[in-house]
Amino acid sequence: MTASVEDVTSLYARDLMDRHGLTDWRFEWNDSDEAAGRCYPDLQLITVSRAILLDTAARNIRETLLHEIAHALTTTDHTARWWNRFRKIGGEGYWLMNNGMAKSSRPEGVISTQSRS
Ligand SMILES: [Zn+2]
Repeated sequence: MTASVEDVTSLYARDLMDRHGLTDWRFEWNDSDEAAGRCYPDLQLITVSRAILLDTAARNIRETLLHEIAHALTTTDHTARWWNRFRKIGGEGYWLMNNGMAKSSRPEGVISTQSRS
């Protein structure tokens, strides 16, 4: 049996989420081509995109998971509080992919917003 990138990413996501206390949260894949990841606090759910994440470097997969985990932990949008938590749990901030991330709300220090359309 060969583990696919999808399988390994699922395991990695579960491990990261558990490590940050999100043991009651679920992880799922989606087929979005707009956002690498999404966080649904009301559903306690983090989803990531097959279309985007299975076609990128491992480092970007990690960034995306930490990005969404920081949303889950802070239940805020891209506020300074979110940014501080993201950095604290190991996020680098070089690959923020979120079409809804307006320039004006980008926390200081976020160097780039990469979107795919
Ligand atoms: Zn975000």
